[in-house]
Amino acid sequence: MLMRIDGKDTGGVGGDWIDVKNPATGVFIDRVPSGTPDDVSCAVEAADAAAGGWKKKTMRERGVILFHAAGLVREQHKDIAKLLTMEQGKPLKEAIDEVRGFACILEYYAGISAHSTGEAIRLGLAGDCMVVHEPIGICGAIIPWNMPVIIMGWKTGPALLAGNTMVLKPASTTPLSCLKLAAILNKAGLPPGVLNVVTGSGESVGAAIVRHPLIGKVSFTGDCTTGNKIRTMASGQSKELTLELGGSDPMIVMDDADIDKAVEGALRGRFYNAGQTCTAIKRLYVHDMIANAFVKKLKVRVEALKTGNGLEPGIDLGPMNSAGQRDLITDMVKDVTENGKGTILTGGYSLTGPSYDAGYFYLPTLVSDVSPDARLLNDEIFGPVLPVVSVPDLDTAIKEANRSRYGLGASVWTTNLATTKRVFDEVHAGIIWVNRHLTVPPEIPFGGMNESGIGRENGSHALESYSRTKTLFLGW
Ligand code: NAD
Repeated sequence: MLMRIDGKDTGGVGGDWIDVKNPATGVFIDRVPSGTPDDVSCAVEAADAAAGGWKKKTMRERGVILFHAAGLVREQHKDIAKLLTMEQGKPLKEAIDEVRGFACILEYYAGISAHSTGEAIRLGLAGDCMVVHEPIGICGAIIPWNMPVIIMGWKTGPALLAGNTMVLKPASTTPLSCLKLAAILNKAGLPPGVLNVVTGSGESVGAAIVRHPLIGKVSFTGDCTTGNKIRTMASGQSKELTLELGGSDPMIVMDDADIDKAVEGALRGRFYNAGQTCTAIKRLYVHDMIANAFVKKLKVRVEALKTGNGLEPGIDLGPMNSAGQRDLITDMVKDVTENGKGTILTGGYSLTGPSYDAGYFYLPTLVSDVSPDARLLNDEIFGPVLPVVSVPDLDTAIKEANRSRYGLGASVWTTNLATTKRVFDEVHAGIIWVNRHLTVPPEIPFGGMNESGIGRENGSHALESYSRTKTLFLGW
């Protein structure tokens, strides 16, 4: 099993392995080494040895390798997507989008490599300055299981283009697609040691990456609690951190909105990837005047969604990625049903029966009349459950939207420019969509406020975040 892409299999040093199973069927797919801190040290050594040569290449030369890798990913996208569906559970059509998205990210960074510039500052008699961007050195990347392929692209694309080497840890339930992509990057011409994948648990491999003194930056995507642990582990070290954490995105639908468009937006924004997306719509605030009509249409569309094994045709929702995730959702819905904190309009339970028993399926669920203290309105719902709250006006909608401790994304559905401006100015989130939710092309910066994290991924902002400026002062 691939452990480091320089061809040395350091895996299984301690002889332990992690079984990867299909969350739809429980069937064993493959196994990967359960890495140790020693494996991380080996990977850092390889990254350190490769750093000088990789940094010396021009950005355009590095971009060409990324572009070549994107081409190989496009050629093999069906096989990679199948692997992703098997380990993660998402429907094949979504897996194909995600794998193509990875290729788009590499193409985007390859494209901007030609425009990479520094800065010249003229200081008159005092002299002239030249400001250049240098790579940080060795970067660590820690990846979650929900969108492993896209998130690997968000980290490897800018980090490698900027001239860094990397040690990357995939999530334990979804390592296979990341390993496959690392092998493709290697085949595309990445020199040995530039990208090193170490599989294993967060507590062992993830923590060792955060603590390693030679790793200059860690980019972590995952849960807020883990993010806070990482902040603590990294404190006292001169390490840069990007933390892309959880979210509880509000969607605000005003009475002047195009209802059909908003219903389709809510459907995709909430139930894509079985609701396991950081910027999924997790709270819906709809204006009183249209609430009944809106909810009626949404319920019809939700009930038409087909849940099942993502490899089968026509499936809209796959399983939750693990029993633990399904149980978290079950508990959050029980908080409503057992404590009278809302009304289940549809769904509200796990699927059982011959086709479902071996998987972690949860039926798409709508909940109305949700009380403000329900967990559904206060914690992140990482699954296919949508609480709907009707609001009398925009003031209330904005106040409710900002009640969350998160601040990742938010959307407003309206045809009114003044409403748009107020939401943009007043709602606390890293991205505000108007008549849209969830779309994050590689060009735009992405990241959260408040407990949703620090730093930005994507776009030229990410490239900067994997670089340090260095200034040459010429005193004439
Ligand atoms: P998680 O925090 O449990 O795990 C994420 C990664 O961290 C995994 O690789 C895990 O093995 C590793 N890890 C766990 N404990 C660690 C430790 N002590 N030290 C170092 N690494 C450790 O998160 P998850 O359940 O895989 O992902 C779901 C969460 O990710 C949700 O909250 C979701 O909103 C968030 N997310 C955020 C974004 C974003 O861009 N903001 C994108 C996707 C997912």
